[in-house]
Amino acid sequence: MLAEREIAASFLHYRRLLGVAALGLIAAMVAFAFRETWPEGSRHWEVAGWLLGALLLALLGMVGATYYWFRSSMRHLIQLSQARLRMVVTDSLTGALTRASFLDHMRRAFSGTTDKSIGYIHVDMDNLKIINDTYGHKAGDAALAHLVAVIRRAAPEGVVGRLGGDEFAVLFENLSSREVLAASAQAILDALSRPVDLKGIALQLSATLGVALAPEDGDCVETLLANADLALYVGKGAGRGRVVPFDREMSKDEQQARFIERELRGAILLDQLTVHYQPIVDIQGQKIGHYEALVRWQHPYRGMISPADFIPVAERSTLIDTLGDWVLRRVCRERASLEAVSISVNVSLMQLRRAGFAQRFLGILADTDTPLEAIVVEITETVRLSADAIEMRNLELLMDAGVRIAIDDFGSGATSLDYLRRLRFDAIKIDRSYIVNASLDPVSMALIAAVANIGRALDIKVVAEGVETEEQKRMLQAAGCTHLQGYLFGRPQALPRAPEMTPAQRRVA
Ligand code: C2E
Ligand code: CA
Ligand code: CA
Repeated sequence: MLAEREIAASFLHYRRLLGVAALGLIAAMVAFAFRETWPEGSRHWEVAGWLLGALLLALLGMVGATYYWFRSSMRHLIQLSQARLRMVVTDSLTGALTRASFLDHMRRAFSGTTDKSIGYIHVDMDNLKIINDTYGHKAGDAALAHLVAVIRRAAPEGVVGRLGGDEFAVLFENLSSREVLAASAQAILDALSRPVDLKGIALQLSATLGVALAPEDGDCVETLLANADLALYVGKGAGRGRVVPFDREMSKDEQQARFIERELRGAILLDQLTVHYQPIVDIQGQKIGHYEALVRWQHPYRGMISPADFIPVAERSTLIDTLGDWVLRRVCRERASLEAVSISVNVSLMQLRRAGFAQRFLGILADTDTPLEAIVVEITETVRLSADAIEMRNLELLMDAGVRIAIDDFGSGATSLDYLRRLRFDAIKIDRSYIVNASLDPVSMALIAAVANIGRALDIKVVAEGVETEEQKRMLQAAGCTHLQGYLFGRPQALPRAPEMTPAQRRVA
């Protein structure tokens, strides 16, 4: 700013001088115009000539000086704005290009004609939030700056940009092969995972990297970015801390997921979903009026779509909440026709993570006059049960109101028996994979027997899922399970429809 003000001030100064010279010239020209009135052979002529010449010289000098002044000022201004521009194009924390300038750079790379490939790596730092929360924002900032420094060292030929928060991108022009790109990505990850001391804090950082190569994986900036992003998304789902190259199959899966997402919304509105009920029987195989509710989707063109396919897609958005509410409402309404004592409903981790979930759940039970003890909520083992977690608060609200909770798929998740100490569960459901293997695998059998023992000690029901044969039934009885569920006792089935009325009957009704 200071330099611009100085330039402006000196311009005013020059303008004043120029003005004086121009006025002088005008005066001389006026005097010259009245030359007829001058006496013949007067000294006026001589004086006027000198004056005019001097003024002309002064004016010329001024014009020359102004030209040099203008040139040097412009040069100065250009240097100044270039310095300012550098500040805008690079991120002040990490020195990486800003998002806009990085994308600009990428567009320029795509517009250049070269027969070499363009490589792109989308780098997403893992656990920045945890670093910020544990060690403060200064440590988080240092970690981000370190990440960029590591990228620059491990892949010096790449251009680094910060796309936002903890997301970075590296662009490689004139890349010779896919292998070189993958090796650069791996080198970044390896270098990053070396322990580092940041402002006195020993940290081991990690990142997930999505990799794509133009033109094979995308022949324009937008497609290449979207595909690297997709690879990154897949990498995060697979457990982070890895390099994931884009693969065409990924985009097929993604298209399928998008199709499901779009259609499922409509299916809920159009009532294309139904709920099937599968009996959970006692250890003798006798029906006791308890069922598990399992959602079904009969698509008009695609036929039956399995919940194993559409629940994970619904979990990516708030669709799972709409779906969950719909299933619960339907179960509560159908309970009477099923003459069920109680019905288990599956509740996804994503639903439990939503503030207000328990209140909405209890609201639906109240709306439909459903007694609280008639519903059991099945949750999977992957739910975090730390005291301050929102999942825990939702579960406690439901339990305090009188809704029972069962652990589903026990043994399939990564959690331990610690789960049983945290909550007063009503039942443990042993994952089907253990039942299938029980006769062949002594470890499976031992786990079933151990869980049955724990259940007895804690007075919790132990349900074996996926029982298909008499042999399995006998083994599970011997192991001490309390309940059984599986095709042997009944497949999931829709409520028997009320028989269609004949036109005659309808007239009478
Ligand atoms: P899950 O809760 O473990 O449900 C048991 C699954 O095993 C059901 O598959 C059921 O049909 C199947 N099954 C039952 N007995 C047998 C058997 O003897 N043999 C074999 N091979 N399979 C048996 P389904 O209905 O396809 O459901 C798959 C998963 O989808 C469920 O697993 C559950 O996690 C989820 N799900 C289903 N309905 C809902 C729902 O309304 N909400 C949520 N959030 N998830 C649901
Ligand atoms: Ca279940
Ligand atoms: Ca299960």
